Amino acid sequence: MDFRIGFNKPYLSGNEIRNIAEAVSLCQLSGDGVFTTRSLLKLQEISNFRNSYLMPSCTAALEAAALLLNVKEGDEVIVPSYTFVSTANAFALRGAKIIFADSGKDHPNIDPTAIASVLTERTKVIVPVHYAGTIADMDEIRSLANQVGAYVVEDAAQALGSFYKTKAAGTLGDIAAFSFHETKNVTCGEGGLLVVNDDRFTRRAAVIRDKGTNRSDFRSGKTDRYTWVDIGSSYTAGELAAAFLCAQLENFETIQNRRIAIWNRYNEQLHAAGIGNRWQLAHIPDHSTNNAHMFWMITESKTDRDRFIRWMQQEGIQVLFHYQPLHSSPFGMQQSPGIVLPNAQRYGDTLVRLPLFYELSDDGVDLICDAIIRYFKSN
Ligand SMILES: *Cc1c(COP(=O)(O)O)cnc(C)c1O
Repeated sequence: MDFRIGFNKPYLSGNEIRNIAEAVSLCQLSGDGVFTTRSLLKLQEISNFRNSYLMPSCTAALEAAALLLNVKEGDEVIVPSYTFVSTANAFALRGAKIIFADSGKDHPNIDPTAIASVLTERTKVIVPVHYAGTIADMDEIRSLANQVGAYVVEDAAQALGSFYKTKAAGTLGDIAAFSFHETKNVTCGEGGLLVVNDDRFTRRAAVIRDKGTNRSDFRSGKTDRYTWVDIGSSYTAGELAAAFLCAQLENFETIQNRRIAIWNRYNEQLHAAGIGNRWQLAHIPDHSTNNAHMFWMITESKTDRDRFIRWMQQEGIQVLFHYQPLHSSPFGMQQSPGIVLPNAQRYGDTLVRLPLFYELSDDGVDLICDAIIRYFKSN
């Protein structure tokens, strides 16, 4: 179906094709070329990452994290139920038992109290997701992890450019994963980033992403040939993707300024119209900054949500719900049969997301707000 205003449209700086043409003419198309270097430098400027690796996806980065931490059968990995499949699947692949924790009452992020209630000596990793780019309660999550000697892996897929107090998303866990999928603030179609904050893991991170070989030692002249030294996979992003990504990262401030302006315009207009009295509107706790990845709202019920989505559809505006909680998915139910997570279920049933993309104009935002306000008057 065609919408007057779709949910997402990827940002384009206009330099993507030029960069790709340059990469083609340089004839170095596999990873670790000039555009990978430029992208990583830009990312370091934005977020001050210590060691980071461009990868084919956030999913790949999460899988690399699970390999790095030697996650194995019998280990328990705590994830929010209200998240994307990859958060859990990357660890399930290694045979871990996935333990689902509930979201908070007033924010879809994982609730530290819910983590505390499922924490055991077998807990190997806690994987907070920074939903909508809003950072989870990292101090509390870290202190829970420390109680049982667990690692913290941030699923920061949506969180590029967000800060927790003064520290950037991705620098808060032992390891972090970002996404450059088409739906994220910055994209190269499919892409991701692994950030390694614990220096004990950096050497092995290079091996794991390079099919279990010590090719990075070979490239830096530490050995005269390279060979198979460990398990690994093919987790390096190619230069064509990096060239595209680089053109976006170099305009990061421009992208963010516009997205934040859109987010604030929604926030002001919807609150001014009193929508916040009946529906909970996206909000940012004091400990996090806002990277304006998403504007979400919590409707009153699944029926209300579906009616609202249809209403907006008739207005030509594409509004979407989000995750179906993993604990009630067919595979998730096998991991943890019979658990009840009311908040995750409620977000699954009632949360909606409004269009938010660079090219969305102020008039577009006003039109969307107007349609929402009219829905309220007639329902
Ligand atoms: C987008 C997303 C992913 C997956 O990212 P890919 O790059 O598509 O693998 C994982 N987790 C969360 C929370 C996401 O939003």
